[in-house]
Amino acid sequence: MGGVPKQRHTKSRRNKRRSQIFLHSPGITICSHCKKPSLPHTICKNCGYYQDKEYIDVTKALKKMKKRRIDKGLEPQENKDKL
Ligand SMILES: [Zn+2]
Repeated sequence: MGGVPKQRHTKSRRNKRRSQIFLHSPGITICSHCKKPSLPHTICKNCGYYQDKEYIDVTKALKKMKKRRIDKGLEPQENKDKL
């Protein structure tokens, strides 16, 4: 009873097993919309597109961010009437 090893594995066998223990870097793909590098299977951070479809309106998000900054007083109030 019990998982007790009967025989010791060789250094070679141990090292071969451990040779597969390392971190893999996520591949990088080129966005089909803006041609910038982005993560695979992920909406592009730069333009908000994934598989030629817009999922995030980046300009809208930027405007919202700017408005929030103006409200906080971090940015001078320029063309607030437009926003
Ligand atoms: Zn993109």
